[in-house]
Amino acid sequence: MPRTRKKLEALVRSAALERMNILFMLGVEAVRCGNIELARRYGDLIYRIAMRVRVKIPRNIKRWICKKCRVIIVPGINAKVRTRRDGKTLRVVTRCLTCGWIHRYEFMRCRRSGEA
Ligand SMILES: [Zn+2]
Repeated sequence: MPRTRKKLEALVRSAALERMNILFMLGVEAVRCGNIELARRYGDLIYRIAMRVRVKIPRNIKRWICKKCRVIIVPGINAKVRTRRDGKTLRVVTRCLTCGWIHRYEFMRCRRSGEA
């Protein structure tokens, strides 16, 4: 029955998302306690769950996992975050202090509404 299968998949996915959230919180806690190695394990687990269940890691979580060493990054502890305003865009530069990885995000301050 395809319907039940779909329901099951949805269940697995929501369970995966829930687990990712929990792991992320535990990871943040680990970083706060200075246990970087543990935070890396949690970050790695989040990636593994996402790959196995084939779900995207929620943006609010993915943003705080280092892509290079997969440690959970917490601004002010093991990451430096700088913002830069450039016209309408806000650039956020995150630097992982564990491996030195730098990532830049761009936030649009105004959502595009018709304008090019
Ligand atoms: Zn890193």
